[in-house]
Parts: sequence; C-alpha cells; structure tokens
Amino acid sequence: MVTTLSDSPPTAHPKKATGLDLHENVRPEIKALQPQLVDWRRHLHQYPELAFKERLTAEFVAQKLTEWGIEHQTGIAETGIVAILPGNQPGRVLAIRADMDALPVQEENEVPYRSCHDGLMHACGHDGHTAIALGTAWYLSQHRNFAGTVKLIFQPAEEGPGGAKPMIQAGVLTNPKVDAIIGLHLWNVLPVGTVGVRSGPFMAAAEFFHCQILGKGGHGAIPQQTIDAVLVASQIVTTLQTIVARNIDPLDTAVITVGAFHAGTAKNIIADTASLSGTVRYFNPGLADTLPERIEAIIAGVCACHGASYELDYQRMYPATINDPTMAALVRSVAETVVEPDLGIVPECQTMAAEDMSFFLQEVPGCYFFLGSANANLGLDYPHHHPRFDFDETVLAVGVEIFVRCLEKFFENSTA
Ligand SMILES: [Zn+2]
Ligand SMILES: [Zn+2]
Repeated sequence: MVTTLSDSPPTAHPKKATGLDLHENVRPEIKALQPQLVDWRRHLHQYPELAFKERLTAEFVAQKLTEWGIEHQTGIAETGIVAILPGNQPGRVLAIRADMDALPVQEENEVPYRSCHDGLMHACGHDGHTAIALGTAWYLSQHRNFAGTVKLIFQPAEEGPGGAKPMIQAGVLTNPKVDAIIGLHLWNVLPVGTVGVRSGPFMAAAEFFHCQILGKGGHGAIPQQTIDAVLVASQIVTTLQTIVARNIDPLDTAVITVGAFHAGTAKNIIADTASLSGTVRYFNPGLADTLPERIEAIIAGVCACHGASYELDYQRMYPATINDPTMAALVRSVAETVVEPDLGIVPECQTMAAEDMSFFLQEVPGCYFFLGSANANLGLDYPHHHPRFDFDETVLAVGVEIFVRCLEKFFENSTA
C-alpha cells in the first residue's frame, strides 16, 4: 500500500472485546499452521528488503516452495517468484498475489523479531502477506483435490516504483493464462477479524507532479523590476484547489495535495524560482486526462498572467484499484463464512491510498480486499508506514483460510 492519506482510526469491535475466537471458523489444519505462519512472518520481519532487492525474502520463499515440491520460477522482474499448483483435475486458473517489499523506516518496536536491517522495516505488513501466501501454498500442496490451477505471485517493489507492471510484462499472467486474481492487504485501519471488500473502485489512482516556477528575482523593495516566484506559486497552490471544488463532479472523489513548496533565500530578496510538488488521487479512470490537463492549465494561466514561465513534470504511478463485481461478491461471500458476517464485513470500504495490484486488475478480473489487523487492546494499532507499526498475528491463519475458501469456491463455480 502506498501512502495512506487520511483514514479513520480503528474502531472497537464489540464482539472482540468479549474474547471471540478469531479462528473459530478456520479449519483445524490451517489453525495448526498458525505457529508456523507466525515464525515465517517474524523471520521475514527481521530481514526487510527494499524494492527489487528482496533477495533474502525471495530465497526464503523459494526454499519453502522447493521443500514442499511446488513448481516455481524465480528472478521474475528481478526478485519476483511465480509458483504453479495444478489441482488433480483441469480447470480455470486463479492467481493469488502477495507483495514482499519493506520500507526505508527505522523500526521503533522493541520486540524479539524487530528488524535486523538498520533503517529498513516491514512497516506495511507485506511480511504478513508473504507468510499468508506461503501458508496457502503449503495447504494446497497437501490438498490438490481441486479442478483448476493456482498461480501464486510473489511480487517485489509494491511501495514503489512498482513490481506488478514488470511482472505482467514478464508474462506472469500467461502460460497458463490467468482467469482471475485475488489479493489482500492487512489493514490496521480495521480491527482484527474484519474484512473490507467492495465491488468497483477500492483504492485510488496515485499520481505525482513537480513544478518549477521561473520568475525574475530582485530587490525586495523594488518589486516592479521582478517577477515574484513566491507570489506566482502561491496563487497556483490556491487555484489548484478549485479543480476538485469546481471541475470535478461532486459525486466523484479526488484529492489534489501540494505537499512541498520551496522558494526564497532571504527576507529582502524577491525569489527567482519556486518549486511545488504534490500528489493527485482519484477513483474514476475518466479523470485520468482531466486532472493533469486542468493542473497544467492553471499553472500556465497563472504564470502567463504574471509573465513567469514553468517546467512541469507529471508522473502517473498507479492506476485506481478496481474490483470485478463477480470476484468481489465471491470474496465477500467467503469472508462471511470466516469472520462474523454481521460485524466482520465492512462493505463499501474504500481508501485514497494506492496499490499496484491495480495493474493486475486492469488485465484480469479480480478482487483486492482488506483484512483488518489492528488490535488496540494490545497496542497494535499504529498506522501503516509508522516506525511502531505492527499487527495482530492472529490474523495470519484467517488470511490463509479466506484464500483457500476463495479458491475452493472459484473452482467449484467453474466446474458447475
Ligand atoms: Zn505501504
Ligand atoms: Zn502495503
């Protein structure tokens, strides 16, 4: 998950306070796997690695797959791995995607499994995603009685610059061709034992811009000889906010944030240049052209009005993560059998954070969902990317159970 902007803090889960067993609906074999899942997650947590450098992580994953006799290919898009598990009857192909990368964060948790890599940390829960996918692989290696093939995609670099796209370019969705895909993100915005899932737009598109305003500097007391870059940039910052307010359908959701503004050197000097950097978020793919066009029109217009010029660099990072209705319904119906159907499902869950799972969902129908992982009673409710981020590991077996039931239901439906 890339950059949470503003999500609500976890809310108390009334039933959790009474000590409800989160593994109540988890099958005994997966329940018994829980200590292993915790061990794998903690091992991965101790050795976090950044984008496209997930070598120890990939080695760990490959070693487990080899141990369990699962066919797999390593080194895809640098450190990615794809494992193939055919069932004992032919059928459709369902992929499960897990991301493996960590963040440049110095861990502040004082736990026995704290990061051994200085300045690096699994502060987003991708160690948990990898452990859940491994647990699913292990279970399937023991139970091949399904009609179809499972493809497990262990992906690098989700936190940026993005490993999904190069893996797709390397052909992970072909040979055999993937018919549908699912994936999850552990989510400390939701209490442990809850699932956030919805059809359609789920996470936002993330884009970034950097703009350099070129004015004409001079003496602070002789403005008539200058083009004040601070004044020009200030007008741009405020006018950019009119895009969401006045150019976007109020029923669409978009965010334009200028997060950095740098200009000037001294109190009596009119700045020659100013730089602005920001991010743009939205769900509706129809806004993909409108937003950068409006941003540039405002920058150009304000600059022209003052005689300044500009250089604009606009980068599209990830498109919006959009769930297929059929696959979202499948995940939701499965989740209802694993977590409390009345309390545990958070429908219409959405965030303006972004994910490169979106690239997979542009290619094949699928569903990405949140598995709540916060437990305020245990102090495990820091936000993602925080140096004290950690999650309730009870969730690991729940994740495996949900994945396995999704596969069973998907293959059952495909043979019906
Ligand atoms: Zn993240
Ligand atoms: Zn993440």
